[in-house]
Amino acid sequence: MSRVAHPAGPRHGDVLPADHPPAPPADLNELQASIWPRQARRSGGVLTLGGMDVRDLAAEFGTPLYVCDEEDVRSRCRDYLEAFGPDGRVFYAAKAFCSRAVLRWVSAEGLGVDVCTGGELEVALSAGVPPEQITLHGNNKSLEELSRAVRAGVGHIVADSFEEIARLAYLTGSASPPPAEPMARPNVLVRVTTGVEAHTHEFMATAHDDQKFGFSLASGAADEAVRRVLACPGLSFAGLHSHIGSQIFDTAGFEVAAHRVVELAVRIHDEHGIEIAELDLGGGFGIAYTEEDDAPEVKGIAQSLRGIVDGQCRAAGLTRPRLTVEPGRAIVGPSTVSLYTVGTIKDVDGIRTYVSVDGGMSDNIRTALYDASYECVLASRASWAPPMLSRVVGRHCESGDIVVRHAYLPSDLAPGDLLAVPATGAYCRSMASNYNHVSRPAVVAVNAGTARTIVRRESLDDLLSLDVG
Ligand SMILES: *Cc1c(COP(=O)(O)O)cnc(C)c1O
Repeated sequence: MSRVAHPAGPRHGDVLPADHPPAPPADLNELQASIWPRQARRSGGVLTLGGMDVRDLAAEFGTPLYVCDEEDVRSRCRDYLEAFGPDGRVFYAAKAFCSRAVLRWVSAEGLGVDVCTGGELEVALSAGVPPEQITLHGNNKSLEELSRAVRAGVGHIVADSFEEIARLAYLTGSASPPPAEPMARPNVLVRVTTGVEAHTHEFMATAHDDQKFGFSLASGAADEAVRRVLACPGLSFAGLHSHIGSQIFDTAGFEVAAHRVVELAVRIHDEHGIEIAELDLGGGFGIAYTEEDDAPEVKGIAQSLRGIVDGQCRAAGLTRPRLTVEPGRAIVGPSTVSLYTVGTIKDVDGIRTYVSVDGGMSDNIRTALYDASYECVLASRASWAPPMLSRVVGRHCESGDIVVRHAYLPSDLAPGDLLAVPATGAYCRSMASNYNHVSRPAVVAVNAGTARTIVRRESLDDLLSLDVG
């Protein structure tokens, strides 16, 4: 087991101890470019997103509200395609935020779409994403989900277990008894567990793989999975897949993973006489949530990944396979800002001020789940009042219901003010819950001074309609 820690500072999420908040910023009204959508501005002191005044957005659509900047999403799609194309491919991991509008934007920009459940698959199909541009993931795909995917003609299915290979064999007529009507021949990627786990500034490379995803390289399960896929006449073996983690800031972990995957490709070549056509290195590219996060440029990441795969293949005497990456967070994360209305303000003497907003862990679970760090600003007006160390909390019955652990907000903050939390486009709406029977907020897309609802707010009727007792 080797553990390589990079000297670049604390890992994202390993926030400073509670009583050591960061120093207050020089100007509370300034927007740090790295954490806001590219079109975010202060206009007359008021935050504007995609050219829309947040006070107008709050008045028209209510709060809490996710405001998603369409041009920001599209521009990040273009950045990825430019960096990895034209020989490489980019698939948007829909689990980060899965709505028809967003899937249409990314598809129109030329990205494919990754889904990992039957539900996400239906959203992608109903959005009109071409089936051949869809990859189906997941560690427990049912026969029904696989059948739907094969019938729809999805481009790739990522095999994650021996049961799944058997289910696919059955569905495509490679197993006995054959199904009533055999289906098209799906392209199958074999997901391998490389033993590499990466988060931001460090990664761990272990010889054994204690996790639920994929086939272990160390145990030989990955070799056996490839054997079984190749043995099914109804399946087309397309290549190998590896996904090593999330919120990754450098390519050191990818390098170890790619090395191990290429070793398997060499064994496949020796045993079966074939070269793998595709190598999918997964997603996990990090974004900036706070001023301290220094997310790398995608161009540099792409160059480095291509170099790694080129080098490993050349050393092994293999033709370089087509490289695919699957960013989720890096496409939608920075595009979206959560807007909240301040409800109550409680000064806990000598410690900090608790600012309660009208949402919380039901619309952003990441702080409670991962100890994630966010920043926030007073959005509805400028203020030159002195900074006040605050904790922005939600309205749920949990003391861990924290939105922003350490926030400097102006001391003249008052109920009714709007707060904005940036970088909430990924894993916030998609992980939202109805805890305390709070309805999940709407998602509004802004672009060039217009706004439209792309996911509507849940109503009390929606909540009551499920309760049929
Ligand atoms: C979650 C996931 C991704 C996307 O991860 P991000 O951190 O959002 O980039 C890509 N591929 C697979 C297989 C995943 O499970």
